[in-house]
Amino acid sequence: MKTSLYGYRLNELVELLSSRGEPKYRAKQIFDWIYKRRVTDVSEMTNLSKSLRDQLQHDLMLTSLHEVTRQVSSFDGTTKFLFALADGATIETVIMPHDYGNSVCVSTQVGCKMGCKFCASTLGGLARNLTTGEIVEQVVHCQRLLDAKGERVSSVVLMGSGEPLDNYNAATAFIDIITDPEGLQIGQRHITLSTVGIVPGIYKLADEKRGITLAVSLHASNDESRSRMMPVNKAYDIASLLEACHYYYNQTGRRITFEYALIKDHNDNLSDARKLAHLIATVPCHVNVIPVNYVPERELKRTSIEQIQAFVNELQRLGVNATVRREMGGDISAACGQLRAEHANGRT
Ligand code: SF4
Repeated sequence: MKTSLYGYRLNELVELLSSRGEPKYRAKQIFDWIYKRRVTDVSEMTNLSKSLRDQLQHDLMLTSLHEVTRQVSSFDGTTKFLFALADGATIETVIMPHDYGNSVCVSTQVGCKMGCKFCASTLGGLARNLTTGEIVEQVVHCQRLLDAKGERVSSVVLMGSGEPLDNYNAATAFIDIITDPEGLQIGQRHITLSTVGIVPGIYKLADEKRGITLAVSLHASNDESRSRMMPVNKAYDIASLLEACHYYYNQTGRRITFEYALIKDHNDNLSDARKLAHLIATVPCHVNVIPVNYVPERELKRTSIEQIQAFVNELQRLGVNATVRREMGGDISAACGQLRAEHANGRT
C-alpha cells in the first residue's frame, strides 16, 4: 500500500519535500489543500507544479476510504459509516451531533485483540493496525460531510474499534496532525483517548504531557469481576491501572474519565457502586456510567433505567462526580463493531 498524504505531520512533510528539492512552504501549501480546502485529488492542488503533482500522485495516495454503508439515526442524527480501506478491510466511524458541536468517534485498528466480553469489535480478533493516514482520513471524511451544513468537527474520541495504545505511534501521530494549527485545528482538550488500560502506554502518554483527556474503561470494582469481562486485567490489574491514572493526572493536570458499563446482575448493584467509589476516591476523575450495548453475539443483559439512576445516585451521594452517558443512535447499529459484524455476516 502507498503511504497516505494524511499520514504526515507538517514537519515530516517538510522533510519529505526537502528531500525532493522542494522549498519548505510547499508542505504548508499541501496541508492547506488537504485540511482547509479538503480536496480529494492531488490534481486539484493547482499552486503546485505539474511535475510535483505527478510525483505525489505516483508515490503517495490521498483518499483511501470508500464508504460502504451509512446509517443515520432518525432519533438524534447520529451518523455511522462503514468504510472499506484500500486492502478491503472494513472499519467504523461515527459522527455524533451534540448541542456543543459534532463529535467524531474514530477506529484505530481493524478489529481488536483485547477480547472485552461486551464488545462486538473483538469478535474476529485483530486484523491489523490502522495507519496514521487511515485514522486521520476518517475525520477529514466526516468534516467534508459537515462542510455542506457549514458545521465542523469540534471534538474527537478515539473510542471506535481497536485499542489506541496498542497502536501507539499511529494514534499519537494522528493527534498531532488533527490538532495542528495549520490543519484541522481541533484543540487537544477536545480529544479523548479511550483505553482498556494498557499501563505502559498510559505512562508513555503521560510523559508526553498532551492536553488530551484519558478515558479508562474500568467496568468493575474488583479484579475478579474485571478479569472475567476484560482479559487485559490479567496483565494489568486494577491497582497498577489506578497508579498509572494518578501518574497521568500528575503529569498532565487532566482528570481521568472512568467508563463503567452497567451489566445486569454482574456489576450493577449498589454495593458495586460503593466499592467503586472507595476504589477511585483519591483519583481526580469523572465517572461515565454507560448502559451496556446489546450485542447479539453476547449474552449480556442491560440494567434497567431505574437501577442505572440508583447506581449513579449512590456514586454521587459518596462524592463521586458521575453522570450517565447519553445514548446516541439508538435506532441504528450503535454498538462498537456491530455494523462491521453485520456486514461480515451479510446483514447489511
Ligand atoms: S472495548 Fe475497545 S479494547 Fe475492548 S475489545 Fe472492544 S474495541 Fe477492543
